[in-house]
Amino acid sequence: MTVSLRAGTLTPAGRPVRIGLMFVGHFAVAFGAKRAVPAASLGTLFIAGQLADLVWPVLVIAGIERVGVQPGLTVVTPLDFIYYPFSHSLVAAAAWALLFAAAYSRLRNAALRTGIVLALVVVSHWVLDALTHRPDMPLTVSAETTRVGLGLWNSLAGTIAVELLLFGAGLWLYARATRALDRTGRRALWGLVAFLLVIYAANLFGPPPPSGMAAAWSALAMWLLVAWGYWVDRHRAVVPV
Ligand SMILES: [Zn+2]
Repeated sequence: MTVSLRAGTLTPAGRPVRIGLMFVGHFAVAFGAKRAVPAASLGTLFIAGQLADLVWPVLVIAGIERVGVQPGLTVVTPLDFIYYPFSHSLVAAAAWALLFAAAYSRLRNAALRTGIVLALVVVSHWVLDALTHRPDMPLTVSAETTRVGLGLWNSLAGTIAVELLLFGAGLWLYARATRALDRTGRRALWGLVAFLLVIYAANLFGPPPPSGMAAAWSALAMWLLVAWGYWVDRHRAVVPV
């Protein structure tokens, strides 16, 4: 798993590169939402919370969205999000939320409440990104749209504090809402937590990626974390309230 997240396959440097995406904060929301939608797997919640960043690298690699690298652009990330309305505009977030909730509800015959919570988790991605990004988050898919962003990424300490607090809270909620069914249920969860934190640190302190395309290829590895989420959840049971 580490291998695919290393930039060695993507860059000559052979080290993890700094993408600096809002990272553990999105996983925090996913962990925290488990109690509200016990029927949904943690893997499904990971998809919901990270849908924008799961779709984004695919669109960049396909040449539909564009990202550049400008070291020093913000303290936390050197990525310059030039054009990403289909993964990261507010309108797109709402559309993805509806689509995801509808698809899940149909496939799993889920209750309306489950669909609503999943949709909210999808939209939470945009809200958290708007907190951290500089004003590059489009409201609509139009080229002339207003772009917003509160710029928490201008403060490394602020970013780490907010993300780790969120992560701790989300994880605590998940750990309380579920219990391990076997040894894997415990080890897979804490292994995942350790892995997320290591990747997060590399994300913050690694060298900038040589190109936007390299960053997108690295970000694709996020899909592996989704698989890890499903694995963890299969070995844990929901604790009755
Ligand atoms: Zn994002």
